[in-house]
Amino acid sequence: MKSMNKLSALRMSGTNLIKAKDHNSAVVLDLIRSQGPISRADIARSTSLSRQTVQNIVAKLDELEMVELRSGVAVGRGHPGVNVSMRRNAAHFFGVHADRTWINFVLTDVFGEIRWNLKLSLPEQNIKHIHQVIVQGISIGRQETKDFASNILGCGIAAAGPFDTETHLPDPTGFSSLGSTDSLTYLKETLALPVALSNDANAAAIGEELYRGNGNQADFATLHFGAGLGAALIIDGTIYQGAYGNIGEIGHIQVDPFGKKCHCGRLGCLEQYLSYDSLCRELALSPDESESYEIIRNLITIRSPELMNWITSAALRLRQAIQFLDALLSPSEIIITGTIPDELLNLLMEEAKPYPLRIGSTKDVIVLRGRAGKWSIAAGAAALALNTQFAPSISRLML
Ligand SMILES: [Zn+2]
Repeated sequence: MKSMNKLSALRMSGTNLIKAKDHNSAVVLDLIRSQGPISRADIARSTSLSRQTVQNIVAKLDELEMVELRSGVAVGRGHPGVNVSMRRNAAHFFGVHADRTWINFVLTDVFGEIRWNLKLSLPEQNIKHIHQVIVQGISIGRQETKDFASNILGCGIAAAGPFDTETHLPDPTGFSSLGSTDSLTYLKETLALPVALSNDANAAAIGEELYRGNGNQADFATLHFGAGLGAALIIDGTIYQGAYGNIGEIGHIQVDPFGKKCHCGRLGCLEQYLSYDSLCRELALSPDESESYEIIRNLITIRSPELMNWITSAALRLRQAIQFLDALLSPSEIIITGTIPDELLNLLMEEAKPYPLRIGSTKDVIVLRGRAGKWSIAAGAAALALNTQFAPSISRLML
């Protein structure tokens, strides 16, 4: 109960729009946002709240201009009911996606639509610079989106995990320290917003889910090539977040107990063999985007032997990762997402074919390339911030 009270208090702190402090209101609001237009009778049925309680909550949300009420279509000889839907401009959320050398920013509305975006470069990969650039980007965002300033309710941040909550190991990327209590407290106080942190693979999966919309497979897994290698699971349209937030860190599964040293402190982690950084190490390149992307694209064009050697061994590891995900999760599809060059991901996926057989089946695991655009990971982070407001149990790494 303690954490719920804390979250309720936070929902209050971001705005004076949501005076709906109690959990019931948050649940009703989330239902209206995800399933509206919806009648009050259907809300009562779905939530098991009494009709009177639902009437009161909806009246309060209407007064706060969070929702709008419209007459529905008459069914048979009955009177048309009144349907409730969320107002598009009821609330906005910042989404931040930090990669190796740049940080993307978006502002989204309650339906995940991007209303503003910005890309800033990250001069150095350490926590001080990451904080500085995030604060700078949000400050520019506030200036450029003045119309929405009164109802920006939170900020979601996505970066490569795992996030350090206890180990205090050296942090060469700076991303691990983002999850420390000090870091989250600093961001929350400086941005004056509730902050929800998630790993980039989770945010990318939410971004895919936003892009896919209704009518696609509701359950799928993703494998994400960002600053490392991550995975995520969407169940019934919702991200699975685990108990401690560090979910889907498939890149840190040990595949060789005597293998290469990983920055997480272990030996032979999967991402030491299957990640953009591992390719750059093999080619003695800095993984910095501006320096390495063009060089690697050229090496792909000429099919350089060094690059093709890495592709051959990494493709075996990719098949292994697909088998892990299939055996563990039995997803309908595995979607490959990433911020590394398209040509590289496509070549790697091609080399890994035929994909492994689905466990207990004669059919291959379905592996597809993600289709959401380059801003989708930041939009996914914003959606996770939104979830902490409307469905408070979802996000874990939040202060
Ligand atoms: Zn590791």
